[in-house]
Amino acid sequence: TYVVTDNCIACKYTDCVEVCPVDCFYEGENTLVIHPDECIDCGVCEPECPADAIRPDTDPEMDKWVEFNRKYAEIW
Ligand code: SF4
Repeated sequence: TYVVTDNCIACKYTDCVEVCPVDCFYEGENTLVIHPDECIDCGVCEPECPADAIRPDTDPEMDKWVEFNRKYAEIW
């Protein structure tokens, strides 16, 4: 699963949303999140992000962002 991290905050680009084959991005007021149960781990969005905000959840210190994405993907 991929996660959206803090570089996404206030980013106005939605290039990632456009390329996601399963539409698993959810939009809040200031940031996007990825729904962890819907992401198919294809990795297409990562290089599309101009803010470098999308990371695989296997990167070090992603726990906080994994939690954040799950929480808000369910709310939004
Ligand atoms: Fe969508 Fe693929 Fe990115 Fe997951 S890794 S959010 S399925 S584009």
